[in-house]
Amino acid sequence: MSPSDNTIKVRNPVTGEYDYEISEQSSSEIYEIATQARAAQKNWGILSPRERGRILGLFADAFERHAKTIGDALSRDTGRRAFSHLEAAITVQILRTWGANCESVFEDLKSEGASQQVPTVHFRHVFVPYPVVGVISPWNVPLLLALIDSIPALAAGSAVILKPSEVTPRFIEPLKAALGEVPELESLLNIVTGGPVTGAAVIDSTDVVCFTGSVATGQKVAAHAASRFIPAFLELGGKDPAIVCEDACIELAVRGIIRSAIGMTGQTCQSLERIYVSDKIYEEFKTELLRQIDQLTLTCDAPDSGDIGPLIFAKQVDTIQSQVDEAVKQGALVLRGGKPRHEGGIWYPPTVLEHVTHDMLIMREETFGPIIPLIKFTSEDEAIALANDTTFGLSGAVFSQDLEKAAAIGAQLEVGGVSINDASLTGVVNDVEKNSFKLSGLGGSRMGRAGLTRFLRKRALLTQTAEPASVKLYSEA
Ligand code: NAD
Repeated sequence: MSPSDNTIKVRNPVTGEYDYEISEQSSSEIYEIATQARAAQKNWGILSPRERGRILGLFADAFERHAKTIGDALSRDTGRRAFSHLEAAITVQILRTWGANCESVFEDLKSEGASQQVPTVHFRHVFVPYPVVGVISPWNVPLLLALIDSIPALAAGSAVILKPSEVTPRFIEPLKAALGEVPELESLLNIVTGGPVTGAAVIDSTDVVCFTGSVATGQKVAAHAASRFIPAFLELGGKDPAIVCEDACIELAVRGIIRSAIGMTGQTCQSLERIYVSDKIYEEFKTELLRQIDQLTLTCDAPDSGDIGPLIFAKQVDTIQSQVDEAVKQGALVLRGGKPRHEGGIWYPPTVLEHVTHDMLIMREETFGPIIPLIKFTSEDEAIALANDTTFGLSGAVFSQDLEKAAAIGAQLEVGGVSINDASLTGVVNDVEKNSFKLSGLGGSRMGRAGLTRFLRKRALLTQTAEPASVKLYSEA
């Protein structure tokens, strides 16, 4: 941020130039927005779920009309052309799905009857949305992770204040243009700009916070939310393991692992970052891995067909390089890659390391780059112990042609999602609930129907059908 004003300069990941800026919105601005959101939510929260679903459908239509400009802005944010337009298309789908399912989620929630404990008391549950939900999102999948919590919060009947990452804010303007075509959502989905100061103001002004980002910031957000006594749903970092058993189909395992670890330049929370391979197939696996890696190209060399885009966040290269250098210093061998290329933007080539150990940072801390460290195991129990030897617990993968064995291994992994014979499936399957384990997160599932119901509090309406008991109930007589 420039010291004299409240603007934040934004870097272009392809050129490396600072060619865009946003303002850091102040806490008084956020407070004012929250006041309006709170007022608007009163009518929104009492609409029927069907009507809210219909209005989300209108937003999907408007979004679709603006999808090209949103995708274009997103590609300037991330340096990813094709995926940015896919990200916009997936967002339309998410909007349509919540719009279509909103009514049925509430139908399924209905619960009433007689108390088993006191049968004369009849109960009915009423579901009360949190008035204003704060959403704070990261830079790695900027649009999707901004809206993945915001849309179900709106469907639940809440208003939202969304603060996307200050690293990738270009998509906000075209998104607001789409939103402007749905007057029914005025003051209900409020998109604000800024960095940590604005993020903290969002926590100060809302009733529940959804945060996606690093563990370090997540800990601050959780402490801040606790000081206000509001819930925090945290989706944090990972260090996902893959276990490749001796009976795995090597070619397909390599394909899935490369897509997860190297695709998106390794900049996703559920990227595989630790690969454990049976010693029986290690050499064959390594040969196939290097064969497939050698076919990949960087988008700085081939802008129209390259596979690996630039690092979005320039400082990430320091984290990646320091972990690689430390590993090499301790005896790791670099089989491919290992050094960044500065071409205006920064590209990190697919990197394969072996002779790594759990003493190295590359096996202990989140890397968030296109790195594949390999470790050989001799027994599946050893592989499970290695996979669980981490402070993270996001997700993991198991490769074996014996599906029962793979499921048994998966059941022992201390993570919230296990992909069998593929990788990072939780990144594409949004309708299946899961929780994050250990430092990877806290709170209800953002996936599946819980993605909406976590924004609802239950109020019990209790009707006495008999005469009320007298104070003699407490008498010593
Ligand atoms: P980050 O923690 O640096 O920032 C995330 C957001 O928090 C940004 O919008 C930032 O402005 C805001 N922020 C920073 N300080 C704040 C404060 N004190 N109070 C309130 N808000 C504050 O994360 P990042 O670098 O943008 O994203 C990368 C991280 O996100 C990685 O660790 C990745 O694993 C994680 N991530 C997790 C998931 C998941 O679903 N578990 C998904 C994507 C990314």
